[in-house]
Amino acid sequence: MNTAKNVPELFGSMVFNETVMRERLPKDVYKKLKQTMREGTAIDAEVAPVVATAMKDWALSKGATHYTHWFQPLTGITAEKHDSFISPTDDGGVVMEFSGKELIRGEPDASSFPSGGLRATFEARGYTAWDPTSYAFVKDGTLYIPTAFCSYTGEILDKKTPLLRSMDALSTQACRVLKLFGKDVKRVTTTVGPEQEYFLIDKADYAKRKDLIFTGRTLFGAMPPKGQEMEDHYFGSIRPRVAAFMQELDEELWKLGIFAKTKHNEVAPCQHEMAPVFTTTNIATDHNQLTMEVMRRVAERHGFVCLLNEKPFEGVNGSGKHNNWSISTDTGENLLEPGKAPSGNLQFLLFLTAVIKAVDEYQDLLRISVASAGNDHRLGANEAPPAIISMFIGDELQAILDAVEAGRDYTDVAKTKMDLGVSALPDIQKDTTDRNRTSPFAFTGNKFEFRMLGSSLNIACPNIMLNTAVAEELRQFADELDGATDFQAALTALLRREIKAHKRIIFNGNGYDESWVAEAEKRGLLNLKSTDAALPHYTDEKNIRLFETHGVYTKLEMESREEAVIEEYYKTLHIEALTMRDMARREILPACLSFERAVADGALAKKQLGLAGGAETRLLTQVSALNDALECAVSTLEEAVEAVPKADAETLAHYYHDEVLPCMDAVRKPSDALERMVGKEYWPFPTYADILFYT
Ligand code: ADP
Ligand code: MG
Repeated sequence: MNTAKNVPELFGSMVFNETVMRERLPKDVYKKLKQTMREGTAIDAEVAPVVATAMKDWALSKGATHYTHWFQPLTGITAEKHDSFISPTDDGGVVMEFSGKELIRGEPDASSFPSGGLRATFEARGYTAWDPTSYAFVKDGTLYIPTAFCSYTGEILDKKTPLLRSMDALSTQACRVLKLFGKDVKRVTTTVGPEQEYFLIDKADYAKRKDLIFTGRTLFGAMPPKGQEMEDHYFGSIRPRVAAFMQELDEELWKLGIFAKTKHNEVAPCQHEMAPVFTTTNIATDHNQLTMEVMRRVAERHGFVCLLNEKPFEGVNGSGKHNNWSISTDTGENLLEPGKAPSGNLQFLLFLTAVIKAVDEYQDLLRISVASAGNDHRLGANEAPPAIISMFIGDELQAILDAVEAGRDYTDVAKTKMDLGVSALPDIQKDTTDRNRTSPFAFTGNKFEFRMLGSSLNIACPNIMLNTAVAEELRQFADELDGATDFQAALTALLRREIKAHKRIIFNGNGYDESWVAEAEKRGLLNLKSTDAALPHYTDEKNIRLFETHGVYTKLEMESREEAVIEEYYKTLHIEALTMRDMARREILPACLSFERAVADGALAKKQLGLAGGAETRLLTQVSALNDALECAVSTLEEAVEAVPKADAETLAHYYHDEVLPCMDAVRKPSDALERMVGKEYWPFPTYADILFYT
């Protein structure tokens, strides 16, 4: 591998970015395009063909032959349909062409993308529309054009559009608030840095396991003698083969302009993490989707398979994605940075309070935004935050909020506590705030870290919820404070009232502790334990009002989204159930029965020889009983899947959760017990020990 590549030269080399645009576009076209990008205005009919041609010529110079409108449907990673630039000429040859029309609008045959029934109600087709706020890029010989996806009647069918809308909503309201502090800010953006966890396993092992192939996670598997208890993998030295993967991954991501920064081993064996430098939320979302794709592809080239499922192996940690989130102005001010000047402190406290109120009032939405069949195996287990949403803000900030609530001068708290000698907030130390790893939503110095996301999730959803909920609180605050005769007094009164009203969401203790569940219940916090319990709350009255107020979703779009996600949930469980049955019936049972037969033959032979067959008989009794149990459990699972009612999506989701899942657990138990007993050469596929401790 070519190591000493020139990184600055490599970085963004496959992206149609600022530099390329300036180089390749006529000045006036460049200016108009920039304006469109900045203000979100419609693209000029004269500009589009010029941009299209420049884009195509640039893409050809990077070896592209095709283009695709790239978008983020409601489920799955991303969608693309490739068209070539080829256009026939009169003399039987071809030229490479790309028109303005083709750039601006595409018509994928979209009838099989999940829409939650929207297209059935309206129009069979959908179309993609170029999103000029995100750069086009070349990957694997194709020009990728980031697009939004909607139906002909205008309902949105993707995740990108609502994300952009939620960012606009937050910007509008935050600018209003900042104006009250005498600041003339034109645009506020949310920034995100998502830390991505993943597993790398050997391709040969993967290929032998139907569960990994069909569901992305293991449905069977006894714990090996060694798991993660020694914690010797975390930040441990990276194996050469993995290091080679990581290096190529970095290079591929850099080419696409993705700021891959840190990489290290995670807690579980074979588990790793990649963290990028944070950027604007919509770009971070595109980049994270790309990162997941590139991870999979590069893994293949190194003889690995990259597992992005939230819980690939029972008994060792699952994979999450930490959504580091903050808000900053176009003037470069991070609004969640405590700052030192007292005037700035009040502004910080107001934004902090808006986030606290938002998380408390929209706990359900945040929980829903991370709900999936895969993540259900993680949340609440001893490695990930519980399914209860709470916030960690740290002792220093807590003392200040306590003082504000009690009507004491909070600046004094800071002074005596930190002995700073100045009337200012303490400089919140990152390492003191970041200590609590068990909190689902933690303040980490100048940003919040939302830690409940599953590793395969599109980060658009949680950020849509977060942005819109915070926008709503800022709207209320701005309405109230606007026109107050004594701004300072009104502000203090507001902070006091809201902190008192929403402090129940703050929990600085250990979120993994059993007692927290009872305490949270006492506080009236939601505990939506599984996806099927959480999702139906999406379309609660207050949530529809929220999204409609800020123009992010219509009621109809929300209903369709809810349905699409619920469908994804029970279909996932359905596939898992069928995969389990298949593996149990056709691989595990035959293997265990032949082992049983061999033991029985041995027992018989000994008996004929007049020898005592103690070992054989005891083993036979146990294995035979487990085989019985396994066969019975599989039959019960089959019956449960057969008996799926004809019902609406929500009922089905509950059915799969309440009836099918327990049957699956019941199948796994005897099988895992058998795995520990049956001769190694009998076992039909690689075990956890084989997969997790390969050399
Ligand atoms: P750690 O969480 O391990 O202490 P860092 O604080 O350096 O590490 O960053 C973790 C992630 O948070 C990185 O992806 C980083 O880019 C991101 N991050 C840092 N500052 C911000 C911010 N203002 N907005 C959004 N993400 C941020
Ligand atoms: Mg972190």
